[in-house]
Amino acid sequence: MSNFKDILSKESLNKQDIIAMLNAEGDDKTLLFKKSREITDEQIGNKVHLRGLIEYSNVCVKDCFYCGIRKSNKKQDRYNISDKEVLESAIYALENKYGSIVIQAGERSDKAFISKITSLLKEIHKIGNGTLGITLSLGEQTLETYKEWFNAGAHRYLLRIESSNKELYTKIHPNNTLHSFENRLESLQTIRKAGFQLGTGVMIGLPHQTIENLADDILFLKAIDVDMLGMGPYIEHADTPLFGAENLFKTRQERLALAFKMVASLRILMKDINIAATTALQAIDPLGREKAIKYGANILMPNITPGSFRNNYKLYEDKPCTDENPIDCNTCIDVRMSMIGSTVGYNEWGDSKHFTKQKQL
Ligand code: SAH
Ligand code: SF4
Repeated sequence: MSNFKDILSKESLNKQDIIAMLNAEGDDKTLLFKKSREITDEQIGNKVHLRGLIEYSNVCVKDCFYCGIRKSNKKQDRYNISDKEVLESAIYALENKYGSIVIQAGERSDKAFISKITSLLKEIHKIGNGTLGITLSLGEQTLETYKEWFNAGAHRYLLRIESSNKELYTKIHPNNTLHSFENRLESLQTIRKAGFQLGTGVMIGLPHQTIENLADDILFLKAIDVDMLGMGPYIEHADTPLFGAENLFKTRQERLALAFKMVASLRILMKDINIAATTALQAIDPLGREKAIKYGANILMPNITPGSFRNNYKLYEDKPCTDENPIDCNTCIDVRMSMIGSTVGYNEWGDSKHFTKQKQL
């Protein structure tokens, strides 16, 4: 038996084992993906669940060094989608049996924004009679706000830690309280306290990041026992401070390959969580999301933002599907999934099994 096979058959994996998994190439990489697929089939099955993604607004009060819609990017036109268009997108998701939606936006915590989201959540709840699952990804908020949104009908929340290494986090964010690592960490607990299923994740292939950092990220995600994961490769944006920064992972292909190994490794370590095949994968490889699903992801987030706004939600360059209407993305989902032996769980919420099991304890 090779060393790598020994690692994969261990009950409990340590940092060195995870580094070996992230460095796996050739036959070892094949074994890694085979193992993560086996675990996915056993624990999750071949069903993929959909989250229709609504990019609600690109107005943001923050200035993350990597993000194209950061506050200081004056080249970026700003938008908010009208209530009517949000509700139309929700109806689109209902009619197409998506089961769930995600509302994502730049971060704002002013009263007008908080109340707007609350009222939209109530409206969406009404039109779908509570049948449409709702995930929010609206940044750091107070416990009160998280509770208000939870009580208005959202039940999952995504807030990426971006990097679990404080030093690295500090290098990719401005040094002020709005971007404090401690606050971000605390928000993850606050989200949970409010009742949400907790989703978080990291960017892969960031400037200043190492394989060791990523192995620590995996151990961090396991330690805080997340219910859902959304991770993706870092993709530079020319109008951000991190553009051109030194990077160990020079090419997008390297970051993509590493992202697949992160997905597979996390599936092996956290067998029953939901893992999203994120849009940034597709920005590098048109089949990036399908490949991630083969290697252990089980959530797909088709973009259902009204077409006219998509060009303006540019977190990074070459974001896919920006000129298309939702229908263009939707018709091919079944075909794309059947190509990789998966089926779509239409009209189902597809909540994290990890979360539902724990609730039953
Ligand atoms: N404002 C919210 C949600 C929108 S941003 C928040 O920050 O939580 C959603 C995610 O986009 C971020 O968490 C970040 O991980 C990702 N992102 C931003 N810029 C990116 C880039 N240049 N490359 C890859 N992912 C990026
Ligand atoms: Fe704003 Fe989120 Fe982009 Fe940071 S990552 S600048 S919070 S949209």
